[in-house]
Amino acid sequence: MIASAVGVVDRVFAQVGKRVVGCVELRGTLQVQALSTVRAAPCPICRCWSGRLHGRYQRHLAERPILDQPVALCVEMRRFKCMNAQCPRRTFCEDIHALAGRHQRRTRSHARALHALGLALGGEAAARLAVELGLSTSADTLLRELRRLGAPRRTPAPRVVGIDDWAIRRGHHYGTIIVDLERREPIEVLEGREATTVADWLRAHPTIKIVARDRAGAYSEAVETALPSAQQVSDRWHLLTNLRDNIERMLQRLGAQMRQAAQQVVVAEATLGRQGLPLGNGLLAWQRLSDDRRALRLAQYEKVMALHAKGCTMKGIGRELAIDHRTVRKFIASGAFPERARRARGSTPLDAHRHYIEERIAQGCRCPRQIWREVRQRGYKGGRATVQSCVVRLLSPQGEPTLAWAPARTMPCPSARRAFGWLVGWRKLAVQEPKNSDHERFVQALCEIEPVVAEVRSLAREFLGLMQRRRPREFDRWLARLSKCSAPEMRSFASSLRSDLSAVRAAFKLPWSNGQTEGHVNRLKFLKRQMYGRASVELLRLRVLGKN
Ligand SMILES: [Zn+2]
Repeated sequence: MIASAVGVVDRVFAQVGKRVVGCVELRGTLQVQALSTVRAAPCPICRCWSGRLHGRYQRHLAERPILDQPVALCVEMRRFKCMNAQCPRRTFCEDIHALAGRHQRRTRSHARALHALGLALGGEAAARLAVELGLSTSADTLLRELRRLGAPRRTPAPRVVGIDDWAIRRGHHYGTIIVDLERREPIEVLEGREATTVADWLRAHPTIKIVARDRAGAYSEAVETALPSAQQVSDRWHLLTNLRDNIERMLQRLGAQMRQAAQQVVVAEATLGRQGLPLGNGLLAWQRLSDDRRALRLAQYEKVMALHAKGCTMKGIGRELAIDHRTVRKFIASGAFPERARRARGSTPLDAHRHYIEERIAQGCRCPRQIWREVRQRGYKGGRATVQSCVVRLLSPQGEPTLAWAPARTMPCPSARRAFGWLVGWRKLAVQEPKNSDHERFVQALCEIEPVVAEVRSLAREFLGLMQRRRPREFDRWLARLSKCSAPEMRSFASSLRSDLSAVRAAFKLPWSNGQTEGHVNRLKFLKRQMYGRASVELLRLRVLGKN
């Protein structure tokens, strides 16, 4: 077993021309000693082989720990003399590229572990974990290693990219991220979001045929100058927000009509939820539960009394009904159904007004809200719920429904954003009917008061449908109708679409959009915050582009 393991180690070393000769423990570190078996090597400059030995030295390489023991390789290196008279190089060293990079003091496997940690966690956190794993290093070394590694090269060249900006420091300093939409991975992170920066990068990547971008001008300018033949695609989400902003602006202009429509919608008391108190038969949930329990107990009492009348013993009744015989005794001894004692309550601020409330109920008032308003005028400072539950408690033994009359209420005027939701039914970009009938009634009332709202509503819903169907011809017809819409906000939306028509039309034709890019921006922000903003954009770039 051990012999075969050593055989494997030998084979690994043989690949780089080394032979393991021993293994000793030195100051708590396992030192694996290997001699060189290389007889001749090619000169790195002139590639002429030379077997003329010039000298030898020991190279120390840190390796990953084994069984919690730090491991170091102590490798003999041979230096050869270049025999080519024309070569500027006098001597050169044998190459152990497969084992460790040039001038490196750790093996490739050790360096790989550090890279993976650095990419996953950034400098400080990775260094702390590395020490825990026995790979002694510092945050600075880790960052240096990451920089040396550089961003991975991506092949093949990108064809469809998404481009978006992200904040290095919000409001001050921005960066740009570029994502290969076909391979779903970020390919570049740039500092700055100016057209020139992006254009330079685009020029270096002439294979790009399609660029998805938001509706900002700088990126479209960059694509036009650097890759004029590339097709630009406007981001669909941004198109939708533009639509929403324009409709909201229109609704804000129609504030008076919105208020009028809201006044026409009488809200059923039941839809007010916690504001009113119409819980089924007017009882609170805990009261219904308590009533149910009392009914069960009463049924049990009646069964006990019936069996007792037949002459059964108390223990016999207990066994028959599966209840404690002491309960049976209590039932029989009490002579009448023993009501549960009411839980003792401490004094409440409402106590002073209890008499008044009883009086009002006797007068026939059954609306808790009305009573609450009255007690408040009499100096009560407590909450409405307390008054409501008190009224319900006083009314329920009489079997009287509460809220026999509640003042009819109209809908409060919704905000433009909310009304937009009811109007277009935009939830997760799908067309949905308004859930609440009051909302639909409000929309109908608004459409009757202001017919332009109905027109805008049908246009907006069609826009959402077009976005899913992707038929550019239909989009053209829709845009023609939008340009003739009576609402000025929609006409200005139409002209803004026309100003970027090629990219907007592509959004209705091609499957590409910038959703993926936004996702990568989110990941980038997460990585940025993980490093507390201390690391440079350079490190952030490496971590975003690193394969993780
Ligand atoms: Zn040479």
